[in-house]
Amino acid sequence: MLTIKDKRFVPFIDQNKLKNRIVQLADQINQDYQGKQPLLVVVLNGAFIFAAELMTHLTIPCRVTFIRVSSYQQTASTGVVKQVLGLTESLEGQDVILIEDIIDTGLTIQDVSRHLREQKPASLEIATMLFKPEALQMEVAIKYVGFEIQNQFVVGFGLDYDGFGRNAKEILILA
Ligand code: 5GP
Repeated sequence: MLTIKDKRFVPFIDQNKLKNRIVQLADQINQDYQGKQPLLVVVLNGAFIFAAELMTHLTIPCRVTFIRVSSYQQTASTGVVKQVLGLTESLEGQDVILIEDIIDTGLTIQDVSRHLREQKPASLEIATMLFKPEALQMEVAIKYVGFEIQNQFVVGFGLDYDGFGRNAKEILILA
């Protein structure tokens, strides 16, 4: 059990299950990207532990870079859109794997992938540790999914509640 501020979180996906699934995802990526050298684009902060774990199991030549996403209001009609920060290298012609911690409504990943596609990568696929299919509001093709989960708030393995809980070795769910 984990208490962060006034909230109680209970174990949901244990360490072994999580790590075994990440090895499976890495194996799949190793097969799919044979002869290629993908660039992992990791969305900070939440995806950093998942990405690190995944990357240690990749046997293909690969590189990693990190981005951040911030929300801002563009106009009243377009509403809040996501801005991608920190992308310093060109993605043109690269085989990009976008790494997320969790896909909820899909808004973040849709905006980020649209932004990255403008740079004309050779390919762009999405890998996420967790996915909440019931919450999804956007049309996004997610190639690599660790676990599909119910529409409830989770922390751990990189995911936070108010900045805390990222260091938990397992995924915990709000009690
Ligand atoms: P989306 O744009 O898909 O609605 O939300 C994606 C982002 O919301 C994730 O990258 C993550 O930062 C945050 N998020 C969504 N659901 C959860 C959750 O259950 N727990 C935590 N800690 N963050 C979440």
